[in-house]
Amino acid sequence: MTADIIAAFPKVKLMQNEPLSNYTNTKTGGKADFLAFPQNLDEVQNLVRYANDQALPVTVIGKASNLIVKDGGIRGLVMILTDMNHVEVQGNDITAESGASLIEVTKIAQNASLTGLEFAAGIPGSVGGAIFMNAGAYGGEISMVADSVTVLTPEAKLKTISRDELDFGYRHSRVQEEGDIVITAIFKLHPGNADEIQAKMDDLNARRSAKQPLDLPSCGSVFKRPTGYFAGKLIHDAGLQGYQFGGAQVSTKHAGFIVNVDHATASDYLAVIQHVQATVLANAGVHLETEVRIIGEDPVQN
Ligand SMILES: Cc1cc2nc3c(=O)[nH]c(=O)nc-3n(C[C@H](O)[C@H](O)[C@H](O)COP(=O)(O)OP(=O)(O)OC[C@H]3O[C@@H](n4cnc5c(N)ncnc54)[C@H](O)[C@@H]3O)c2cc1C
Repeated sequence: MTADIIAAFPKVKLMQNEPLSNYTNTKTGGKADFLAFPQNLDEVQNLVRYANDQALPVTVIGKASNLIVKDGGIRGLVMILTDMNHVEVQGNDITAESGASLIEVTKIAQNASLTGLEFAAGIPGSVGGAIFMNAGAYGGEISMVADSVTVLTPEAKLKTISRDELDFGYRHSRVQEEGDIVITAIFKLHPGNADEIQAKMDDLNARRSAKQPLDLPSCGSVFKRPTGYFAGKLIHDAGLQGYQFGGAQVSTKHAGFIVNVDHATASDYLAVIQHVQATVLANAGVHLETEVRIIGEDPVQN
């Protein structure tokens, strides 16, 4: 019955049993029952309505740079929104579709001499993922520039949410609670000097590549910053850098990253995460909470 979704949407790019490792930044993860790349709001809305009618669960992914999809994959319909990536500048505002690359948006802001988004110059997510996570770096975060967001509710209704209603916190937004799909975001920026904006972005990117293992697949900082500590230092002090399970390794360059060094699976990643959490708890008495989102199902054991 559910395979009918492909017949029901002949114009939508839709695949069945598609490995999500082809799309995740860690290059790991099981298969999506159905994977769609909608091109516009109408397609997203119609897909959600269809999925609701068929009782198919819906999962939305951006650039999969903060994601571990378990090796058992994801049941139902997965949508990757990166084909919805239109960005428009109007005065000091930038309106971006959720699938737009955040890095592209920072370049567009620089080009329009708009300041405020420089902190995001090296964050490899989408606009939707950045809103969902309240992504941030180097003293800035999305909550400082996001003015409002248009979302599609789980009932496929369009709704605009203001910054105040987004309930932003450390790597948190209300979108995480409501199951809404971010469709567009409006960023409020300020007039600035294009050369100075570029210089700041270059500086932050140089600092990033000096510290982070950008040459290897990863999902960025795996753990949230525990109050009063730095996750990377706790992991370093516990002697865990270089710890490897299967193909996943605690980066020797940045202790907060877990890199795919040799055909890792999501289960390898989860084993390293659990080992790091247990060792840091034993060593320093601190529980490391994951920042990375872990979704999907465990693989079926033979
Ligand atoms: C090398 C590297 C460096 C990084 N540096 C930083 C950093 O400095 N600061 C930082 O904050 N993060 C950083 N990250 C993590 C990541 O880039 C951010 O969290 C980013 O905001 C995630 O966006 P995404 O599109 O990749 O989201 P995904 O990983 O695709 O998804 C993350 C979560 O958001 C949800 N989601 C995605 N799109 C939507 C949508 N349209 N509507 C509703 N929900 C949605 C997904 O369901 C999922 O739960 C880094 C990652 C890497 C690999």
